[in-house]
Amino acid sequence: MNLIQHFVNGKITPGKSDKKGKIFNPATGEQESEVKLGSKSDLDEAVNIAKKAFETWSLKPPIHRARIMFKFKELIEKNSDELTKMIVSEHGKVYEDAKGSLIRGLEVVEFACGIPQVLKGEFTENVGTDIDSWSVRQPLGVCAGITPFNFPAMVPMWMFPMAIACGNTFVLKPSEKDPSCSIRLAELLKEAGLPDGVFNVINGDKVVVDAILINKDIKAVSFVGSTPIAKYIYENAAKNEKRVQALGGAKNHCVVMPDCDLDQAVNGLMGAAYGSAGERCMAQSVAVAVGNVGDHLVSKLSKKVEALKIGPGMDKTSEMGPLVTKEHLEKVKGYVDLGVKEGAKLVVDGRNLKLQGYENGFYIGGCLFDHVKKNMRIYKEEIFGPVLSVVRTKDFEEATQLVNDHEFGNGTSIYTRDGDVGRTFASKIKVGMVGINIPIPVPVAFHSFGGWKRSLFGDQHMHGIEGVRFYTKLKTITSRWPSGIRSNPEFIMPTMK
Ligand code: NAD
Repeated sequence: MNLIQHFVNGKITPGKSDKKGKIFNPATGEQESEVKLGSKSDLDEAVNIAKKAFETWSLKPPIHRARIMFKFKELIEKNSDELTKMIVSEHGKVYEDAKGSLIRGLEVVEFACGIPQVLKGEFTENVGTDIDSWSVRQPLGVCAGITPFNFPAMVPMWMFPMAIACGNTFVLKPSEKDPSCSIRLAELLKEAGLPDGVFNVINGDKVVVDAILINKDIKAVSFVGSTPIAKYIYENAAKNEKRVQALGGAKNHCVVMPDCDLDQAVNGLMGAAYGSAGERCMAQSVAVAVGNVGDHLVSKLSKKVEALKIGPGMDKTSEMGPLVTKEHLEKVKGYVDLGVKEGAKLVVDGRNLKLQGYENGFYIGGCLFDHVKKNMRIYKEEIFGPVLSVVRTKDFEEATQLVNDHEFGNGTSIYTRDGDVGRTFASKIKVGMVGINIPIPVPVAFHSFGGWKRSLFGDQHMHGIEGVRFYTKLKTITSRWPSGIRSNPEFIMPTMK
């Protein structure tokens, strides 16, 4: 059985704890690996090493750090097939989708290659007579990342390339469901020339997370996962005086206006609701049918949902793969049962899907609900599976109110041909990432990623300039170089003359 261990101080290490978790291939349902679940002392040891590495890494010129990022970028490209296959074999999503997610992570590395430019400070000559002032951004120290199962390469890569390029050292705690990519990325960083101890991976569960939250030498915590855990991380990291950004769950609405190009909206929704089997924080899980568009929308969607090609992620013809674990499959099926009980109309039922040759895989067919109401749990809660709920509203105002009233505010989009409606939507909607005729409005690396409301706890979004702000502290220096003694003691608040 393949054993996935930790990566500390430039090498794979077993750690002290003997606890292990099971890793399944979701396509077959077979256990293929075990992962070491670290202890508090495993985490503390990695932090000590990262703290020591910070002493020298933080002093390296930004151009030196950028050159390592350039080399890392090359190595990811060279090894992209292997990394993609790791994602498919542990997460289950289809190969091309997994590759796309790796590339979105790579884009953050590309942004980090330009770190000397974005770390440049500000300078004012003569803030007062013969006095100059300048601001610099300095690294924080040891930073930690805690990541979810659904993007085993991309989400860690939202964090550590930015943190490291800014001069910090990093300890990553990946999801215990699909940890292989993180270890491989650590090896590639080493190959790219990153000094030992700058990037470390401790695998594990809540034990390692709690050890991160109380370790005094960790200065900042980046978290991505479900909302209850994001809130727990936010509260406890702050209580322990850490900087924290904690991204949570979502329920993304796609508003379909009667004037839109309906085929475009339907195709957009198919990819956004069923791509990656709905296991995306930017999945569109609610279609809001405005005015008289509902019947046409449901009729077009249902034909496509029934025709979805479902199969193993390595099969080139598959459009949708399995869910990540058996437990998650049961949870998603439970939500579909609940929706039926709550009175929504189940137009397409994927619960009984069986794939010949893959009978033990964690598959469910696409599910489509119509006439979902806002008081139903299937509307209020994140299902995180291939289940699309259609809610009908009488007009645009009711549709936007629905989106704004929801507890989550990660992403949303609108399909319309009316520029005024599109602009009003973008301006008024209380959501962090908005698409106009774009189904999944995930910002590219040089913009920043983050939701509003209970989809993000903290101030800064991920990567881009927000990432630089999160992983650095601002220092402002004011200086004067008098050539003789020109001033007497001053006892009043200095003002610039
Ligand atoms: P999760 O919250 O179960 O786990 C995330 C991380 O927290 C993992 O590393 C896990 O080991 C750890 N964890 C789990 N339970 C914990 C506990 N009780 N105490 C401390 N740590 C704990 O999330 P998941 O199931 O891995 O991922 C899916 C969730 O992530 C969805 O809600 C999805 O919307 C969200 N997500 C959000 C974004 C975003 O950008 N907002 C992106 C990707 C995923």
